[in-house]
Order: sequence, then C-alpha cells, then structure tokens
Amino acid sequence: MAHIRAVDIITKKRDAGQLSREEIAFLIDGYVAGEVPDYQISSWLMAVFFRGMSFEETACLTDVMLHSGSVIDLRAADGAAGPFVDKHSTGGVGDKLSLPLAPMAAACGVRVPMMSGRALGHTGGTLDKLESMAGYNVFLSPDEFRACIARTGFAMTGQTKEIVPADRLLYALRDVTGTVESIPLITASILSKKVAEGADALVFDVKAGSGAFMKTVDDAEKLAVSLVETAKQMGKKAAALITNMNVPLGRKIGNFLEIEETIECLQGNWPDDVREITLALGARMLVLGGKARSVDEGIALCQEAASSGRALALFLQNVRDQGADTDAVLAECGKRRSPHRAELRAAADGFVKIDALKTGLAGVALGVGRNKTQDAVCADAGLIIHAHEGSAVRKGELVMEVFGKDDACLAPALALLNDAVVYAADKAVRQPLIYKEIT
Ligand code: URA
Repeated sequence: MAHIRAVDIITKKRDAGQLSREEIAFLIDGYVAGEVPDYQISSWLMAVFFRGMSFEETACLTDVMLHSGSVIDLRAADGAAGPFVDKHSTGGVGDKLSLPLAPMAAACGVRVPMMSGRALGHTGGTLDKLESMAGYNVFLSPDEFRACIARTGFAMTGQTKEIVPADRLLYALRDVTGTVESIPLITASILSKKVAEGADALVFDVKAGSGAFMKTVDDAEKLAVSLVETAKQMGKKAAALITNMNVPLGRKIGNFLEIEETIECLQGNWPDDVREITLALGARMLVLGGKARSVDEGIALCQEAASSGRALALFLQNVRDQGADTDAVLAECGKRRSPHRAELRAAADGFVKIDALKTGLAGVALGVGRNKTQDAVCADAGLIIHAHEGSAVRKGELVMEVFGKDDACLAPALALLNDAVVYAADKAVRQPLIYKEIT
C-alpha cells in the first residue's frame, strides 16, 4: 500500500469524502505500529469529528480497531453453547443494572460474557463495585472467563491489554485533542471492545440526561442508532434503549453499597427505577438471544428468574467462582459502612428533586469514583438516599446518609449534595425512565 499517504486520507475526510477500508486500516494499523505519527491521527480525528462517518465507514473503523488485538472465542471450550448476549451501558450514577441483570438473563438461558470498566469522573464502574467484595477476581484469563460462563451462564471481568490496543491509543489522543464527543468515534470505541469479547448480540443502555455522557435524548438517540446500525453491519444482533439519567438510579450509590443493593434486588426488594430498566434490558437480551418471543414474554421470564431466587443463586455462585466469600459478603450487607459519616437534612419543606451529575460528583468527592484513571477508590464510601426524587419532606428530615473515605471529604461532598438536591413547592410530573427503543 505504498501509494497511500496519510495526508491524502486526512484531506479526503476533511473534504467530507467517504473512506475505504484500506484507507482506514492504513491509518489505524500504521498508528498502532508507530508508523503514522500522533499529529496526523489527531488531524484525522478532528476531520472525523466535523465531517462524521457513514455507518459503513464506522463499521470498517470498528473492525480494524477490533483486529488490532485479540478476539475471544467464547465457543472454544464450550461447544456451540450460546447464545452469548451482552449489555453495555454508556454510564451513569447509581447504575448497577449489570449486576442483577447478568444473573437474571443467565437464569433464563442466555450466556452473558460481561467485560466492564472502572469508575471515571462522576460515573461508577462495575469492576470497582465487584472488587469491593474481598477476593473477587476481575482479571480472568480467556479460559477462566469461558469456564465461569460455562458454570453459571455469566462472568464479569475487565478488559485485558490484548483487547483492542488501538482503542487505548486512540482514546488517549482523543482525550487531549477535543475529539471524544464524536458519535462514530464513540461507536467504534465501544463496539470494538464489545465485539472482541465474543458476544453474538448486544443490548445498549444509552443514557440521556445530566448524569450521562449524552445530555439530550436527541444526542442519545443518534448514538443509539449508530451503535445498533454499526453492530448490525458487523453481523451482530443489536437493540438499544434510551433511558433517563437525570436522577441517580436506586437508593444506594457506592461500591459495596451497590453490591448490597444488587443482593436486595435479587431478594425481591427492588427500587422501582432499577427494576423497570433492568427488566426492560433483560427482556431485550432474551428476545435477541432467542429465549423469548416478545418483550412481554421476556419481562415475565426475567421476573420469574428473580422471584424464584434462581438469579440470586447464580449471582452468589458467580461471587464464589470468581474468588469472594459469599457468607462474608452476605454478612456485610446492611452493616459495612465507612465510619466517616454525615447526614444531609432537608433545607426546606418540599418535594425532593435530585440531580444525577451533582450527586455523582459528590460520590467522587466521597471516594466512590476517581478523577484520574490512577486514583484509588474507597470500597466503603457512598451514599444512601432516604428521600428519593418526588418524595415530600419537611425541613430537617433525613434526605441522605453519606460515607466518606475520610472525615475531610465529608464537608465538600455535603456542599455538592446541598446543591444537587432541591425542595420544590410542587410535585414534578414524573419523567419516563425509558424514552425510546431502537431496534
Ligand atoms: N466509552 C468508550 O468506551 N469509548 C468512548 O469513546 C466513549 C465512551
């Protein structure tokens, strides 16, 4: 391909041209090999940011990124047993849905190969939550990953460095060149990693609202359509729900606190919002995996998996299989709290309104999340919401309990929460939890 020059590909995209697979591969493979320099990739990323990419180009970019590393063959040690269906969330506050969802879907016969990420900024991370259980191993080898899935129908692990190395390089460059917020680049980044984990079908939970990456439903819809269309171009079945992330999900936010809330859900004590969205996502996973003929049937099957206790049994079996002590985890539920505690009390009479972004930032201040990838998180930090969105409170009533990594973080976190919670004179009209479905 000696005749291809990076500068020609950059100018072609700058002038809104459509790139071929060879051109995209020349840039990305060349960048990973150290043959195309940062400054040319930066310039190309900015051209993509302004000019966009067709679904076909986005699928080529995804495929080229995918093949920069290894792809897990889930069927290798496990015959042809599938279907393998995963769910991906674009990230939110209190978003622990993967934790009850994976065992619930597995209990209904789909296999869930879940590769998750860590907390960053105001959004939480599944791996940090799992690691709050002492001994839980989120560094499974491909063989261990397959073995866990074969035993319980699901496994939860982190991405190894062999998975999509191109994304690590490109994301670092996007981060410092103002090119993160590009729908085709986000699509290729998310999808290359999801396809590498070996799933046959993908359900996306694209969040919209203050606590989400996409602030408006319109932007979330553009991302959802791009993810679903590009996944289909790559031969995967896909669907997306656009869900509300203006308000934190559930009653507990934190690392161990969200494990605790997951166990409560699987014991039948669900917060309404967590229940509605988890069932909706689970139903789509069953439909795509061929285990339910309709969304309604999928919801009924998921409900039965939870109410019968089968999903909880699988969750606990997975916790054991991945190295933690289930007796210890169960014994810690309701008790394990950081000793650095404070209370948020209502500043006025009124109906509570809680902003997800500001609550997430308070979580970071408490030690739940991190600002930089190298920061440590505190397993026992977090907050418990006693007066949820829409509830009526009197001045001085308990709204939230907060638990910090130390005493010093409590005052700044309370200041953020004082700003996150308002007491409205009138009860607001309840916003939908699920805005739209893209299939
Ligand atoms: N999440 C990803 O994995 N990649 C992006 O580009 C944005 C969000």
